[in-house]
Amino acid sequence: MRLNNLRFSETIMKAKLIMLGVCVLLVLAQLTGCTTGSSAEQTQDSWVVHDMSRPRPPVVTPGEQPGQPPSNAVVLFDGKDLSEWVSAEENEPARWKVENGYMEVNNETADIRTKKSFGSCHLHIEWATPVRVRGRGQGRGNSGVFIMSSYEVQILDSYDNDTYPDGQAAALYGRKPPSVNACRPPGQWQSFDIIFHRPIFKDGKVRRRATFTVFHNGVLVHDHYELTGGTWWRGPHAISEYEEHPDKLPLMLQNHDNPLRFRNIWLVELPEKPL
Ligand code: MG
Repeated sequence: MRLNNLRFSETIMKAKLIMLGVCVLLVLAQLTGCTTGSSAEQTQDSWVVHDMSRPRPPVVTPGEQPGQPPSNAVVLFDGKDLSEWVSAEENEPARWKVENGYMEVNNETADIRTKKSFGSCHLHIEWATPVRVRGRGQGRGNSGVFIMSSYEVQILDSYDNDTYPDGQAAALYGRKPPSVNACRPPGQWQSFDIIFHRPIFKDGKVRRRATFTVFHNGVLVHDHYELTGGTWWRGPHAISEYEEHPDKLPLMLQNHDNPLRFRNIWLVELPEKPL
C-alpha cells in the first residue's frame, strides 16, 4: 500500500513538471510571435491587424491625367520657364530654349541641373528626340537623366537605331540594358518613371547600392535593379565605380549636342530605408 502511494506521488510530480514545461513553452511562443490562428495577430509594423488606432496615410490629390504631378510632387518644369534650373558647371541661369510647353537643348548652356537637391525619389520626365533624324548609334538623339548628378538613365533615339545595348534608351548607362526596347519613333513624346533609392556610403565605401525601377512609356524596363557601380563613360569598355557623395544632389540633364526636348518634369521624394 505504501509503495503504491509513493508511485502515485511520483506520477503526480511528473505530471506537474510536464504541465510547467508546457506553460513555459507557451509563454516563449507568445513572446517570439510563434502562435498561429490568433484573432489578434501582429503585423510586421507591430500593429494589430485591422487596428483602427493605426495612423492614416496622408491624403494626396492625384494629377487629373496619368503622368501629371500629384499634390505632393516637387514640380521641376511645368512648360513655362527654367526657374528651377541652372547651368550645371557655371551655376548660371540655364539658357536652353523654352517654347510651346517644352524646353529644348541648345548650345547656349551645356548640361543643366536643378537648384534643389534630392536623394531617393520617384521621378517623372517626358522627352522627345528630334523629328529630323541625324547621325547613328550614340550620335542620334542622345541626352540623359542623371539622378543625383551621378547615375545616368540614357536618353537616345533607339527607334531602329542600333548601338551597344547598355547605352540604348532607358539603359543604366554602361551597366544594364533595359529588359525591352519600348522606344517610340523620333519626335514623339516619351516618358520615364524612375523609382530610385540612393546608395549609402560609409568610410568612403558603398554600404548599400542604389536601386532602380524604371518604366519607359509605361513599360517596365528595370525591376528593382541593384546598380553595381557608377555610370560615367571612361572610354571604350570602361565605366566609373561608386564614389562617395552627399545624401542629396541635384538632378541633371545632359547636353550631348542633340536638340532633345523635355516637358512635365516632377518628382516625389521617398523616405529613406534604414540599413
Ligand atoms: Mg547620354
